Amino acid sequence: MHPLPVLVPLLPTALALPSPGLPFVINTWGGPFTVATDAAYASLLLPDASALDAVEVGCSACERDRCDGTVGYGGSPDEACETTLDAMIMDGASMKVGAVAGMRRVKNAIGVARRVLEYTRHTMLAGDLATRFAVENGFEEVDLATEESIRACEEWKKSGCPGNFRVHVKPDPSTSCGPYEPIPLAWGSLETTGFLAASRASKTSHDTISMIAIDARGALAAGTSTNGAAHKVPGRVGDGPIAGSGSYVDAEVGGCGATGDGDVMMRFLPCYQALENLRNGMSPTEAAENAVSRMLRRHPDLQSGIVVVDNQGRHGAAASGWTFTYAFRGGEMNATQVVTVQPVKAALVKQF
Ligand code: ASP
Repeated sequence: MHPLPVLVPLLPTALALPSPGLPFVINTWGGPFTVATDAAYASLLLPDASALDAVEVGCSACERDRCDGTVGYGGSPDEACETTLDAMIMDGASMKVGAVAGMRRVKNAIGVARRVLEYTRHTMLAGDLATRFAVENGFEEVDLATEESIRACEEWKKSGCPGNFRVHVKPDPSTSCGPYEPIPLAWGSLETTGFLAASRASKTSHDTISMIAIDARGALAAGTSTNGAAHKVPGRVGDGPIAGSGSYVDAEVGGCGATGDGDVMMRFLPCYQALENLRNGMSPTEAAENAVSRMLRRHPDLQSGIVVVDNQGRHGAAASGWTFTYAFRGGEMNATQVVTVQPVKAALVKQF
């Protein structure tokens, strides 16, 4: 049994919450995602615990439990009803990253990402060949679809594929499924903003676990695991496995984890930006607000949430487009706490 998470009131702008002490773990989202917080925290209490282990253990718990259905197997099926997984894990001392992108038929994406980090000189493996690497490394190959994911996907197709990610194609993607054909583009007619909401078929069309852990010796690691965006074009890779976007960690300053509209967020590297902000003296909350505001200025309809922690465990967050929550546990805390974060204010966005 996991102890019930304690709810913490709204985070005041710009102030970071104090560190509860080490070891420490923090991740995107509360509710079902606290399974991951608790699993990571328990692993940090073991003798010889490492931050990397904690991130792998925490994200793996979410992949197994599927948290709210947006991590692990059976969630966010693509247009062809297949679930594919994105994950990354990063070590804050060496800055090494292991990642898998669009990986098929293997459940434990963060586990495979860890193998990429530890047993190759690469940073990322993708698609079917990431699957082959996983199998070579002893991971089981299984179908990631569930009856529920197939049924939901078939119903989505019957209702005309609302919220798909196609643009500039015929038949009209807002009312029809494919196959699609491209429509020649006149110069300057490229959609640049205002398109995000159209690709959100439901409240849970995207979500992700991103986690940062600091072990008792002060070592930091970060990681992300997600099944991406529902109804994605097959082959789509989101921000989750991109270092600096899904998550980022540098033991000199701290760590960051993100969730939200990945197709846009990966163009801005919000976690890299947040850590540079920390390095330049901002508090974790200011660092997060600045990183989110930079994206919002260009994409006012962006849904995003990022958590930022400095290397002592002081933490904060910022969000846009939704009420975001994050969970943390550290020091002697006997239960995970969940913090609610309201979207950044428009006035703040103008300052950056
Ligand atoms: N960022 C994820 C993606 O776009 C989804 C999410 O975090 O909500 O793949």
